[in-house]
Amino acid sequence: MQKKDASPHGFLPSFQHFATQAIHAGQEPEQWNFQDVVPPISLSTTFKQVAPGQHLGFEYSRAGNPTRKCLEKAVAALDGAKYSLAFASGLAATLTITHLLKAGDQIICMDDVYGGTNRYFRKVAAEFGLKISFVDCTKTKLLEAAITPETKLVWIETPTNPNLKLIDIEACAHTVHKHGDIILVVDNTFMSAYFQRPLALGADICMYSATKYMNGHSDVVMGLVSVNSEDLHNRLRFLQNALGAVPSPMDCYLCNRGLKTLQIRMEKHFKNGMAVAQFLESNPRVEKVIYPGLPSHPQHELAKRQCTGCPGMITFIIKGSLQHAETFLKNLKLFTLAESLGGYESLVELPAIMTHASVPKNDRDILGISDTLIRLSVGLEDEKDLLEDLDQALKAAHPSSGNCN
Ligand SMILES: *Cc1c(COP(=O)(O)O)cnc(C)c1O
Repeated sequence: MQKKDASPHGFLPSFQHFATQAIHAGQEPEQWNFQDVVPPISLSTTFKQVAPGQHLGFEYSRAGNPTRKCLEKAVAALDGAKYSLAFASGLAATLTITHLLKAGDQIICMDDVYGGTNRYFRKVAAEFGLKISFVDCTKTKLLEAAITPETKLVWIETPTNPNLKLIDIEACAHTVHKHGDIILVVDNTFMSAYFQRPLALGADICMYSATKYMNGHSDVVMGLVSVNSEDLHNRLRFLQNALGAVPSPMDCYLCNRGLKTLQIRMEKHFKNGMAVAQFLESNPRVEKVIYPGLPSHPQHELAKRQCTGCPGMITFIIKGSLQHAETFLKNLKLFTLAESLGGYESLVELPAIMTHASVPKNDRDILGISDTLIRLSVGLEDEKDLLEDLDQALKAAHPSSGNCN
């Protein structure tokens, strides 16, 4: 399945034919009346029927849309999956997957998941009679101990946010599937289809917030789900229509276009990310850097065994206090202070006050989300310019030297 030559920095080799499939899978011009080379944006909500109940594959745009179908085929190919489905947002995908369960069923969720996933499970799904347990799934023993006869879904995210902890997907799948009919979902948003294939490692569902790397241009909110099981596909396809959380044809067009450059974008995110991580790690004004691509990451070996590379997500702790962090943020010129991630542009944020403000202070302390912990989404700009920007902002925060107090 994979090429011989390893990726840079000792990661798994990239998946064969990835770029070719990103450009060609599902995009056959023959499927369109005028053999459009670029898929048309099919805005019609309804499709003429030949006779009552007889149609050419589409009847109503919530149930199926040509532009959406074209995107879904491309995503399936990139995930090495049989089927893929698109949704109105990452959370719409999460909600639809959760509807595979019924009241009384239990969900085991990684304790350090995306805040919106945690909020949905705790504040919405639990109100409908689902039992939710949050478990540190980096420890397979804890996961195994939490499984009960009611467990129907295990939800993990790797790497986590903002601590970039990894979960061994293969070990997790092994543990979960020992206990019967439990669906293992991997939120693959941070890695994208280019760096990690959860289905090949034993997961049942691979899910994305395509809002991030998969679309990659910070101009679409979307969710994606890939599966190999025909049964899961049929049930999710039914729910996609029955719940109706579908994306617009325009968004499908844009995301499909974004996928065409996924490979070259991710390679540059990796290159820039590694350069920034190495720069920060050797900087006296920085306390600590968390990046799975660095040998200093406690799960670096797992990263190299499980992934074909690392995206541009870096977490680091600046020396000093909140005030130093704020001065640093204020002085950055290329890194924009904003939530979200995975676009071509570099972003920076302070999780304790921004993305993770809703996490109680006590829990933030347990998770290690301090006031000096900064998260970067390294974009596609010139490496040298990014390093210079970080350097001048670090110097502004600590004018004398790294020996602050
Ligand atoms: C953003 C994000 C989500 C939610 O996706 P939306 O598209 O914003 O609904 C889920 N998981 C992760 C890891 C995310 O970063």
